[in-house]
Amino acid sequence: MRSIVCHAARDLRIENSTVSDPGEGQLRVRVAFGGICGSDLHYYQHGGFGTVRIRQAMALGHEVSGVVERLGAGVSGWQPGQRIAISPSRPCGHCRVCQAGQHNHCLHMRFFGSAMPFPHIQGAFSEQIIIESHQAHPIADHLSLSEAALAEPLSVGLHAIARAGSVLGQQVLVTGCGPIGSLLIAALRRAGAGRIVAADIAELPLQCARAMGADETIDLSQEGDRMAPYKLDKGQFDTVFEASGSEAALQLGLDVIRPRGVLITVGMGGDIRLPMTQLVAKEVDLRGTFRFHPEFATAVRFLNEGLVDGRPVITRIVPFENALSAFDLAADKRQSLKVQIAFADA
Ligand code: ZN
Repeated sequence: MRSIVCHAARDLRIENSTVSDPGEGQLRVRVAFGGICGSDLHYYQHGGFGTVRIRQAMALGHEVSGVVERLGAGVSGWQPGQRIAISPSRPCGHCRVCQAGQHNHCLHMRFFGSAMPFPHIQGAFSEQIIIESHQAHPIADHLSLSEAALAEPLSVGLHAIARAGSVLGQQVLVTGCGPIGSLLIAALRRAGAGRIVAADIAELPLQCARAMGADETIDLSQEGDRMAPYKLDKGQFDTVFEASGSEAALQLGLDVIRPRGVLITVGMGGDIRLPMTQLVAKEVDLRGTFRFHPEFATAVRFLNEGLVDGRPVITRIVPFENALSAFDLAADKRQSLKVQIAFADA
């Protein structure tokens, strides 16, 4: 079988590899679809992000769906042929942080396709992978395996909402309407947000944001003055989700958020300046959000029950043979939102 392996910046290869038999409590899965995420692109384009660098060959990928192929010892409740969404989150369950219920911060996390620990944790862009049975979530018959691979980015959006607390009836701003921002918008609708304004600097993500349920979209590259009314009276938004990672968007968020509003930083843009005067004087709650854990099951349920339709987010599906070109396509934000790779037997 073959895997998509990153050796260094701009050095991505399709390589032959082997897959073992599933061990106790594990499943062997034939991967169906894999979505290319921003972090995969960072590894491919720059060899990493921030202090996280690729130091050994690592298969990329963590947004995958597949079909159960073989059961390890002691696994029950699964059948070969079952279609699943696969959570990339593998916390240890035993450390102090896991015991406190904060599994996404596990001290021994083995999240698929991550160069944070060393040795790195291999990713899921392989034709076959071994997973823990608790990573598998069955999908509904009517849900495509392609849509099932959106459970991961949807989980990121759900965890961001969990960090914000109740958004019921609120006026909410989302800056950055790529796949995460757009799926977040759909999740905000489910969570009862009263009015959702979406902002970006390009038309394609804004189209997607509308399809996913935004009430108003603003192209900041053309019509930034439409934000002016939202700055009045110390700001109008109860909650702001900053999903672009840009300094300008964070500044805008602080301009338009109401006093004591909650500003969730979903995007990770490296070191940027923080306007402390506004943050302090408006008593803004600035909160980070990182990955997810229990939200994955909720994301699969929303997709299974048709409560979130992720299809507008997927702009292209590329066959495995052309997987390397799929990364360049995914990096072109003018024409791509979510690019997925279709593995051999998908
Ligand atoms: Zn742990």
